[in-house]
Amino acid sequence: MNALGRAIAARIRAAGPVSVADFMAEALTHPRLGYYRRGDPLGAKGDFITAPEISQIFGELIGLWLIDGWQRLGQPTPVYLVELGPGRGTLMADALRAAKLRPEFLAAIRLHLIESSPGLRERQGTALAAAAPQWHEGLETVPAGPILLIANEFFDALPIRQFERTGEGWCERMIGLDDSGERFRWMLAPPTPAVEALLCEEEKSAPVGTVVEVSPAARGLAAVVGARVAAAPGVALIIDYGHDGEGHGNTLQAISQHARTDPLDNAGEVDLTAHVHFGALARAAATVGAETYGPVPQGDFLKAIGIEIRANRLCANAAPAQAEAIRSGVKRLIDAEEMGTLFRAMAITSPGFGPPAGFA
Ligand code: SAH
Repeated sequence: MNALGRAIAARIRAAGPVSVADFMAEALTHPRLGYYRRGDPLGAKGDFITAPEISQIFGELIGLWLIDGWQRLGQPTPVYLVELGPGRGTLMADALRAAKLRPEFLAAIRLHLIESSPGLRERQGTALAAAAPQWHEGLETVPAGPILLIANEFFDALPIRQFERTGEGWCERMIGLDDSGERFRWMLAPPTPAVEALLCEEEKSAPVGTVVEVSPAARGLAAVVGARVAAAPGVALIIDYGHDGEGHGNTLQAISQHARTDPLDNAGEVDLTAHVHFGALARAAATVGAETYGPVPQGDFLKAIGIEIRANRLCANAAPAQAEAIRSGVKRLIDAEEMGTLFRAMAITSPGFGPPAGFA
């Protein structure tokens, strides 16, 4: 066990088994040893690669999507442009470069970034220096006012709880220690009716053996975003891998150097994520008065906002090898077998905004 594993084990010895959410929170955001407190996890040499790191077109199209949203809001000035978990700042840098065609937009935006990793904050500062960003630990400290928000592969990093239906009722899946006290092991908490309050009707009637995931953090954040866009005009775009509620099951996964590993091993050294339950996010945002659209498959969303037109234009002026790279990047983003279907896009808007671009 590494140092973070030993810290979690000590907590279990003192206070009993921990929920998946507690384990994830320790593993990802422990102040000293958490995964997102370490260096840069992205890229070919890191653990995983994201859409903006695959193709510059991804961020460019989102830049045009943001301008379109701003225009539909009546071009409020200033407008808070907020990104949750900006990684290396690549998406936002590409978006702002594409937005140069609307200097009024660039003059109107105030860039606010929600980022917990000190190392990534530094990279974002370099990539986005021209826009003078301000950083926050959470959305709560971003000033109130008109808002454009984007989150790519952020919600999958938020802690989830897992519940399993047994013959005796719904039980929470917990993480404890085996007899040696040296290794983590899965166990079930006693059944409690309290779990059912967290589940929707369809989930409650699932057969014995079913695992259902609930992310209080993701639902809470969707409600905060919903309340913001309901109070001041605004629009938010959430892109991530996940489902609309149709796919139950255990989606907790650990990734290290582009390969899957055991989520209970090497805490803090591997990326822990779960699929995003978009249906639950939509319900949370709607509860506080916002409207939601989607989720739609990422491939459909990107095609609707012009990825193929943009790729053709770039390829027309590119050398053959460069054109090939552009096309293979786009294919990865939109192909059903690659990121086109598993990844989905959802929008949260002020009441009456109407369907944003790509959600018609
Ligand atoms: N959006 C980027 C990076 C995705 S990785 C891209 O598409 O490339 C997840 C990002 O969210 C990282 O920047 C990570 O440091 C940040 N992050 C993860 N959990 C967080 C939390 N609880 N609070 C703030 N930032 C978080």
